[in-house]
Amino acid sequence: MPIPIDVRKKPISVKVHVSTGQGVEITWSDGHTSRYDFPYLRDHCPCALCNDERAKQEKFGAAAGSSGSSSAVLPMFKPRVKAKSATAVGNYAIQIEFTDGHATGIFSFDHLRAICPCDACGREFRPASAS
Ligand SMILES: [Zn+2]
Ligand SMILES: [Zn+2]
Repeated sequence: MPIPIDVRKKPISVKVHVSTGQGVEITWSDGHTSRYDFPYLRDHCPCALCNDERAKQEKFGAAAGSSGSSSAVLPMFKPRVKAKSATAVGNYAIQIEFTDGHATGIFSFDHLRAICPCDACGREFRPASAS
């Protein structure tokens, strides 16, 4: 029995431009095309570790914003992250190994559609949570 699936989250074409470093391009069953660059995907990595990191950063971010202290934290210049390799996980996700060594992120198509950087998907999939 096939699982009923939201057509908006079902890809008909997935291209991962590992060698050029251009990112991931997915065309969905509803005709929409999403483009993600690797740093964006790295920032939206859905693994437990990165979820933790983001939760911590949100906490710190809120604290720093209200304190108004003069000890500004210098932005860290990280080299632009790229993908070393990408592997299909069943037919529901892709796993990306990044050049910074992080490889535990499994990007389900469900998640990928939800983080599509375009405005239309932002409105549709990320309603009130916008910061
Ligand atoms: Zn991660
Ligand atoms: Zn979109």
